[in-house]
Amino acid sequence: MGGISAQVLLDIPHGLHARPAAKLVGLVRSFEAQVVVTNVETGKGPVDAGSLSLVATLNARQGHHLRFDASGPQASDVLAAVRELAARGFDETPGGTAPREPGLAANGSGLDLAIGSALLVDAEVDLTEYEPGDAATERERSEQTRAKAAEDLRDLRKRTAEQVGAAEASIFDAHLALLDDPAVLATVAQSIAAGTSAPEAWRATYDELAATFAALDDAYQRERAQDVRSVRDRILTNLANRPDDPLNESRSADRSDSQLVNAVGAAEVLVVAELDAATAASVDAGRVGGIAVRAAGMTGHGVIVARSRGIPLIAGIGAVDVSPGAVVAFDARTRMFLVDPDEAARASFAKTYEARIAERDSALAEADLPAVTIDGQTVHVMANVGSIEDARAAFGADGSGLIRTEVLFGDRREAPSVDEQVAVYGEIARALDGRPITIRTWDVGGDKPLPFLPLPTEANPFLGERGLRVFRRRPELFRDQLRAVRAVAEHTQTRVMFPMVTTIDEVGWALAELDALGPRPHGLTVGIMVEVPAAALRISSLVGGLDFVSIGTNDLTQYATAADRGNGAVAELADGLDPAVLQLIDRVVRNVPNGVEVAVCGDLASDPAAAVLLAALGVRELSAIGPQIPAVKAGLRQSDLTTINTSALLALPSAGAVRAASVAWLRGA
Ligand code: PEP
Ligand code: MG
Repeated sequence: MGGISAQVLLDIPHGLHARPAAKLVGLVRSFEAQVVVTNVETGKGPVDAGSLSLVATLNARQGHHLRFDASGPQASDVLAAVRELAARGFDETPGGTAPREPGLAANGSGLDLAIGSALLVDAEVDLTEYEPGDAATERERSEQTRAKAAEDLRDLRKRTAEQVGAAEASIFDAHLALLDDPAVLATVAQSIAAGTSAPEAWRATYDELAATFAALDDAYQRERAQDVRSVRDRILTNLANRPDDPLNESRSADRSDSQLVNAVGAAEVLVVAELDAATAASVDAGRVGGIAVRAAGMTGHGVIVARSRGIPLIAGIGAVDVSPGAVVAFDARTRMFLVDPDEAARASFAKTYEARIAERDSALAEADLPAVTIDGQTVHVMANVGSIEDARAAFGADGSGLIRTEVLFGDRREAPSVDEQVAVYGEIARALDGRPITIRTWDVGGDKPLPFLPLPTEANPFLGERGLRVFRRRPELFRDQLRAVRAVAEHTQTRVMFPMVTTIDEVGWALAELDALGPRPHGLTVGIMVEVPAAALRISSLVGGLDFVSIGTNDLTQYATAADRGNGAVAELADGLDPAVLQLIDRVVRNVPNGVEVAVCGDLASDPAAAVLLAALGVRELSAIGPQIPAVKAGLRQSDLTTINTSALLALPSAGAVRAASVAWLRGA
């Protein structure tokens, strides 16, 4: 093109994902120049550097070089500006909310309620009543709708910047760039000219673009398909409810109101059929103030990840009708879920919200103090950790009782080296001020795949090769992890524990592997998870050579009740307060030999009422999701364990009966 060129290194995690790409596109467009960009490593391009959709096709990842060719009056200025932008790391802030990845995700309010406009994933906007006009009419509607959507987005960006933060607001720049993308606009215009209706033209164009994003190599860039769908739905919703249509006036007024950032501080409530861990980890907590899951169940890994990030979540809302953009409010504690709440309901919600903030803040203020019950029992309350950020955000944690290493490194395509593991575990220990950490060896399998450890498809993965079982035939990764654990234990009080143990043989094998690497470092103690009912029943014979056991109530419950923890249809059965599960826990506490500590690290420990019951059963260490630690500690401090009749509770007929009784002991009755 007879111009000049420049090459820059892309040195930002996750490469040119939506936000930095939007920055680049916006910058290029502000100059009088034609700029095309090529990915030097993959050879993809050249594409118009002013088009977000085309820039996305470059699959530009961290470490790649981009070549920019520019022509026109401001060619050298634009290249200088691009170089500067690249040198500033595309203005991405490390940590915080950008870029997000499992482990570096921003955290939510830590409350159990939220209000916001519904962001529906994969829900079809209802266009059945849309009546297409001729090409000129459709073009005009399309233009008006785009202008209205852009105005809403600018408004949303401004309010988000004021009320939440600049980093969170910048996601809307990416949305605006998608709305204004020359390649998108050209395709939509051609399609409308050829006789397609405006909604169909936008839908098809954005669906194709979402598919392009979804095919990218980087998991984070792939997630950006969600941004494309969000813009698509904004356009389609506006087209379905055009303000020039008198029938739609009131509905569209409601909708634009609902798109404002609300008093709770976040703009959206994500409504999903089911929540997978990747979505939960990548949700922008500055923008999504809460998640409503149609499927029931609180122990699926997606739900755990979201709750660990302090994102308010309600599960089991079922098939309730929610249209995109409608205001929804929920309170997970009282199991209330409202669509389009009226003034009175909003006012009452705002009151509850304030009360919960006060409750949270008072628990937070005392979070660092030990949890000592009224009758003088100290219970250590530790944090469950799936990321360094989890550890940083675990206010008041007495250490970590569970590091889910398969979650921590779950986005890696290659296994982390021993050194990398040592660095990350060390970082977690530092984030917890050097308090003890508990590294669980890879718990791969079930619903937790590890990209660097592919497993054969199984008919019943939860009952198949999972956790420790995987490694007996292929011990290399397990040995590397033990090497890392041992290195960390040289400096930090470290506990290693093995998941999914059933037999004494397995314990013997794991201990032999550990000891084959040399004498145990001074700071290292060793334990197993009790997740399999058989292990709970024969606990006394399993613990030879062990220092502790930690009960994983999520799996113990699913195996004891034969109810898949991720299957909403049987979520009611998979209830950790089922007296049958409590009897197994009681048995473990009573039958471990003296000197072997009993902890609980399943999610039951994150429920303040259940935590008190576990303490009453004799458990002296609980490991909870970070945001719940202050509340769990506060609940324990208000409790007198001697007043809780555990034998009566174990004899109750159902989880519901135990839960009903728990209300009384939390109030100190
Ligand atoms: C459990 O099963 O309770 C547990 C803590 O492990 P995970 O949830 O990771 O399976
Ligand atoms: Mg488990």
